Amino acid sequence: MLEAILDKKTCADCRFCCVFDATDIWEMPLVDATTHEAALAARPGVAFAPDGDDWRFAVPIPAGGALVNCPALTPHGCALGPDRPFECRLWPFRALMREERPVLALSPGCRAVAALPPGAVAAHARAIAPQVAAYVAAHPRMLHPWRDEYRWLCDL
Ligand code: SF4
Repeated sequence: MLEAILDKKTCADCRFCCVFDATDIWEMPLVDATTHEAALAARPGVAFAPDGDDWRFAVPIPAGGALVNCPALTPHGCALGPDRPFECRLWPFRALMREERPVLALSPGCRAVAALPPGAVAAHARAIAPQVAAYVAAHPRMLHPWRDEYRWLCDL
């Protein structure tokens, strides 16, 4: 979903969004049925925790400054390819609830997108908003509470 504004190699070389610490473990992606099936095939034995009608990868909460990899991360990147979670294809954009309204916001964690012209980022957000809104309607557990470090881009 980022291909319109970022080349694939930039993402493939980074993997920042596939490694978590105690402050951002909440960003572990929601896993829908398609991704669940793909993950079980690619990473047999991977554990899931139910979340509404979907799942999340079950990982230990890292203590202190420790890091934990997403169970789907391999030395060659994500094992799930095109079946990776919707939230992973969307990140650093994220659906959040702001003042009781679902919005599309930008994480401060992605340096590559932060370096793009703000107007191009905002235009991309408006272009993908209908697709995100449709996914959120089907997978409401994808919505997270508002976080002040995120930048509002558009309503959903
Ligand atoms: S599912 Fe794939 S893209 Fe998403 S956090 Fe895990 S390794 Fe990264």
